[in-house]
Amino acid sequence: MGEHVHVRVNAGVAVSDAGELVETFRCGCGATWTRVYRVEEGEPER
Ligand SMILES: [Zn+2]
Repeated sequence: MGEHVHVRVNAGVAVSDAGELVETFRCGCGATWTRVYRVEEGEPER
């Protein structure tokens, strides 16, 4: 098949047991990605 450019569509956000923010992305081809954000209290950069 030719080169496929994934289109990452946000499929939802959840909070893990560790208190991290887990964002899920999906492409129409079935590929999925997850991004984990550390949510810390008193985040210095923001
Ligand atoms: Zn794709």
